[in-house]
Amino acid sequence: MQPAALKTADDYIADGHTPMMAQYHSVKAQHPDCLVFYRMGDFYELFFDDALIASAVLDITLTRRGKNQGEEIPMCGVPFHAFDPYLARLIQAGHKVAICEQTETPEQAKKRAGSKALVTREVIRVVTPGTLTEDTLLDARSNNYLAALASVAGDLGLAWLDLSTCEFFVQPLASERLYGTLQRIGPSEILVTDSIAGHDHLVPFAARLTLQPSQAFDPESARKRLQDLFSVQTLDSFGAFSRAEIAAAGALIQYIERTQKGERPHLLRPRQIAADAVLEIDPFTLKNLEILRTLSGERQGALLAAIDRTVTGTGARLLQSRLAAPLRDVGLIENRLDEAAAFIADADLLQNVRTELKRLPDMERSLARLSMNRGGPRDLAALRDGLLEADAIRALLLDKGAVLQSHADHLHPTPELIRFRDLLSAALTDSPPVLSRDGGFIRPGYSPELDHLRGLRDHSRKLMADLQARYTADTGIDSLKITHNNILGYFIEVPAKRADKLLVSAANRNEQSGDNPFIHRQTMANAVRFTTPELAGLERDIAAAAEKSLALEEDMFARMATDCMANAEIILTQAQALAALDVAAATATLAIDQRYTRPVLETSRDFVITGGRHPVVEQALAKNAQSFVPNDCDLSGDQRLWLLTGPNMAGKSTFLRQNALIAILAQAGLYVPASSARIGIVDKVFSRVGAADDLARGRSTFMMEMVETAAILNQATDRSLVILDEIGRGTATFDGLSIAWACLEYLHAANKCRSLFATHYHELTSLESKLPALACFTMQVREWNDEIIFQHSVGKGTADRSYGIHVAKLAGLPQDVIARSEEVLALLEREGKTAKLTKGADLPLFQLNTAPAPAKKSAVEQKLAAVNVDDLSPREALDLLYSLKSMSSN
Ligand code: ATP
Repeated sequence: MQPAALKTADDYIADGHTPMMAQYHSVKAQHPDCLVFYRMGDFYELFFDDALIASAVLDITLTRRGKNQGEEIPMCGVPFHAFDPYLARLIQAGHKVAICEQTETPEQAKKRAGSKALVTREVIRVVTPGTLTEDTLLDARSNNYLAALASVAGDLGLAWLDLSTCEFFVQPLASERLYGTLQRIGPSEILVTDSIAGHDHLVPFAARLTLQPSQAFDPESARKRLQDLFSVQTLDSFGAFSRAEIAAAGALIQYIERTQKGERPHLLRPRQIAADAVLEIDPFTLKNLEILRTLSGERQGALLAAIDRTVTGTGARLLQSRLAAPLRDVGLIENRLDEAAAFIADADLLQNVRTELKRLPDMERSLARLSMNRGGPRDLAALRDGLLEADAIRALLLDKGAVLQSHADHLHPTPELIRFRDLLSAALTDSPPVLSRDGGFIRPGYSPELDHLRGLRDHSRKLMADLQARYTADTGIDSLKITHNNILGYFIEVPAKRADKLLVSAANRNEQSGDNPFIHRQTMANAVRFTTPELAGLERDIAAAAEKSLALEEDMFARMATDCMANAEIILTQAQALAALDVAAATATLAIDQRYTRPVLETSRDFVITGGRHPVVEQALAKNAQSFVPNDCDLSGDQRLWLLTGPNMAGKSTFLRQNALIAILAQAGLYVPASSARIGIVDKVFSRVGAADDLARGRSTFMMEMVETAAILNQATDRSLVILDEIGRGTATFDGLSIAWACLEYLHAANKCRSLFATHYHELTSLESKLPALACFTMQVREWNDEIIFQHSVGKGTADRSYGIHVAKLAGLPQDVIARSEEVLALLEREGKTAKLTKGADLPLFQLNTAPAPAKKSAVEQKLAAVNVDDLSPREALDLLYSLKSMSSN
């Protein structure tokens, strides 16, 4: 919509609206896609449809107010001093909120336009899911990304940033990688134009898309916007960005300017993520392997939660981003592993650094808020405490070897930073309030002027008490009191029967003004109230002192906040160094606690894991005091394709997944749950494990299975790692077996990737003699007393049975169904496993065994059956009754 076409408040007045409603409508017209929080006194009010939506989402009372063109106005409100939780719920429910503040006081409005003037209101910020900065609205351990996707001359460019941490990235994209990349980054909001919003890969993100006009993505204005933001003449020094990347980055900046109403965050320079720098985790894999979240969206139960031992929010965010985007460069991975190794080698250092890190506040988020004029004294204190901690940690790292030295260097404060830190230490109280308007955050003794003003304010009681004592002595009226109410302010009160003297004095005041200062204010039933010039002066001083001391504090806060921007770059560098240290120390802690080892990364195509474990299953079993059976896996050379057979529940899926997770952990620069791991760099990890249907995209379960399989066969290279769990299970046996057969051959001949292929189609094992790089392995089981015992260990060979019926029995299928299954299985096996069941007539028709098997008689029943009642005397009958009673209660 063109802004020029929007109606102004005057237009709305001409249409018959009251001035206030006219003001409201003009604001709403500028923000039609937002709920407008319209400030009135102590509340943000919502009107009309906004009120209907908000009252439903927030479960707050909907009221009606006055009339607008004859109609009652629906309205609801939230208190302005505690609106965060309400805002959070509206944002979570997918709404955007425009915060419309009073930008002048009623007094200023009166001065400007007379007594009936309406105070000016303006939208000071538009709150959207991707532009949050408040701790109360954010998850401390996750980034909150705003992304923009641009298409310029057929090229796609993605840019994303976290306004709450100032990080900024760009990446060129191939169209087919769009879904995977967005899945990896997980933005809360994605800016797109109308023309691209229908892209097939964006469908799953539909709820997070925010449409923007195409001008917002114009590469030339985007370039200027970026140059302007970073005060540079050219962007060349940032990297060789494509026009699409620049367009996307520029759209982000424009959106931030629009939503933050001109407040510019102190963004870090955009970092380009090269397309081939990252181990690509296929989107299905990221989801199905439950790397960041479980399939149901929970954090608990996913890989990240199982391995996360970080103690700071910044560290947790870094770990998450490393796990979502592992590396392919051996050198960079080794650097990360070296850091963890340095901590493992020095237990004291590890413990001391972690103790300090636990005290570290979130400097990134505090700085981001301060840079957007949304910070408060508590944020400054966070920087103060964080910088002091940084220095303490730097001291711990000194002389601890070259590996950690680079972090120690980053933590080295400049003289300017020391000055700033010392200033904060001297000026701020230990635990200042969140908002500067609450005052009381400057340390006593720091500013003599402030101390004086506070003295006046805080000693008001004493000064009043002194004055009261003097007036009592002067007048001789013992019951004279100085009190305060909201209408009169401070006043002197005396009982009515003793007031004559003062009233006379007051009447004669003009003649005797020097001696009789009492001025009559009010006569009540029992008391008369006075003031004096001295009392009025004191009252003025107290009010002015409170106001002045707050103004002075706010001024000091503003100066410190500006001061902090001069140090923003180095503070962010320190915060990032501390995050990296946290991740390294957390890796070391996990390695020690859970016996993880350092993987060896190399450029070969080997993949040799000994004693590998599944990180999540292992911890889950440990909770029940059960142990995990470690397994080896060697996909090197002539056995790069493992065909794994074995009974249901034997541990095939666990084995497949653990090997993929070990590769991901290793390339993220983390230690792995294995006795040893040697991994030739993997370029992409693919998995086809347990598909669910995707009804939103019109895909059935089997269709999903085939879509995932197609993605693998089309994209896996000879450097990829592929795990395939049961291909072809969702269709008829012959169809499924044929598909699985062909896929196996294709993986062997065309993809040539390292691969683990689990199946219940035992027929596939015959391929071992035909495909030189295929090796058959099986999950070991032991049969004992008609039961089977899962060993959970992988050995060479093939399984001949799946023991599915056994597992069905364990799951509690009715006995009749189990028995019938066994009959059918026996026939099928006689006929040949893949034969059609043509001789169904040979089997008796299924019959529900309605007659319950005769139950065994209880001891009481048996005894009763043996008794001949006619033979019993009354005494014997009674004895029998007692004995039956005692048998039944045993
Ligand atoms: P299905 O063919 O029915 O899908 P599966 O062979 O894939 O079964 P999994 O799902 O991997 O079997 O494992 C079943 C259970 O066995 C797991 O939930 C886990 O509790 C246990 N398990 C798997 N592997 C191991 C192991 N190595 N050590 C100990 N317990 C294990």
